[in-house]
Amino acid sequence: MKLPSLNVQILLGAAFGILVGLFFQNTGTESGLASGTLYTAGLIGTLFIDLLKMILIPLVFASIVVGIANLRQHSQMHKVWVTTLIFFTVTMGIAMVIGMAASLYFKPGTGLEASMFDGAMQDFQAKQMPLPEFFAHFLHNLFVNPFKALAESKVLSVVIFALFMGIALVMGGDRYKNILVLFQEVLEITMRIVNWIMILAPYGVAALLIKLVATQDVAMLGTLAHFVAVVAGTLLFHGIVVLPVILFFFTGKSPFWFWGGARQALITAFATSSSSATLPITMRCATKHLNVKPEIGGFVIPLGATLNMDGTALYEAAAALFIANLVGVELSIVQQMIVFFTAMLASVGAPGIPSAGMVTMVLVLQSVGLPAEAIAILLPVDRMLDTLRTTVNVEGDLTASLVVQKIVK
Ligand code: ASP
Repeated sequence: MKLPSLNVQILLGAAFGILVGLFFQNTGTESGLASGTLYTAGLIGTLFIDLLKMILIPLVFASIVVGIANLRQHSQMHKVWVTTLIFFTVTMGIAMVIGMAASLYFKPGTGLEASMFDGAMQDFQAKQMPLPEFFAHFLHNLFVNPFKALAESKVLSVVIFALFMGIALVMGGDRYKNILVLFQEVLEITMRIVNWIMILAPYGVAALLIKLVATQDVAMLGTLAHFVAVVAGTLLFHGIVVLPVILFFFTGKSPFWFWGGARQALITAFATSSSSATLPITMRCATKHLNVKPEIGGFVIPLGATLNMDGTALYEAAAALFIANLVGVELSIVQQMIVFFTAMLASVGAPGIPSAGMVTMVLVLQSVGLPAEAIAILLPVDRMLDTLRTTVNVEGDLTASLVVQKIVK
């Protein structure tokens, strides 16, 4: 018997995971069957993420070095750099404008009493994150001993060191051609291993979704339904309308073609809530299904996975306005602009791991004097919203790689 294609298997895995998760959500998670299933799902899900993380660092390193070296001419490299950073900034800006506009219009949080959440807020110790310190920390993390960065999976630091290596290889020309060949082969080997890991993807996705859905706090989702609807609606709008329109405008590619090629990465992002863990699959989709040249994809996508977070930026901006409504603070235009800029910084600084956006949001709240403890209110719905915002983050990276490729050409 012939198995359905991997695409279909992953889709079936996701549907199965959600259905089983809903079943246990209804029947409760105390029974022997439920705890056994959740334990097994936890094991399989973690194994899948571990495998992706295992290959992540060698893949990122090799792909950036090779990507940069392939761009060769300095002028071309310069153009890719600049276009990529402009694209990241503009799309994150658009996402935040949408999130903030919707929050100002629908005013989630106005009907709720902040005192309802007093207990949660008292139990929660927010980590202080003054802006200058956050910025210094971010800068300090760019340049790290490469062995330490590789060993500790610091993706951004690895990206930066790989950029230096790639540039040095280009400048050295023929002198270092053996090293270049070595990295090209390492890249091929890592992609081969990614192909193997993909065989597990349908099971990994199913397991992660069973666990996530079964253990959701549904009552809290109900209380915060208005906020959840505004964030989910605007994230969907950005992912289904804005990014595809941008893609079509620059490349003439249809959204269906794009989603078809990006599907495996998008579903994995949804299930893992981690752009970094999804990165190997994102790279594979870009080069294998969306015809992104490795030298562009190998540069734009790893960089995007750590810096370009449309979904996170939208969420942080919208959540700050929600909390302002909840505690009854009217933000002035200037304060809204501060929210805009700090939310952008906070999302750039957020690593691509689950709930990272939630942690860096403290920065946004503090910047306009809102209580940092208020993020305790968002904790119960954060994991659920993280699925969507991570999907949008990854979609943004794939869109960026296609648009940059077109512009640079
Ligand atoms: N989970 C997100 C990501 O990996 C970051 C966030 O928490 O918003 O892209």
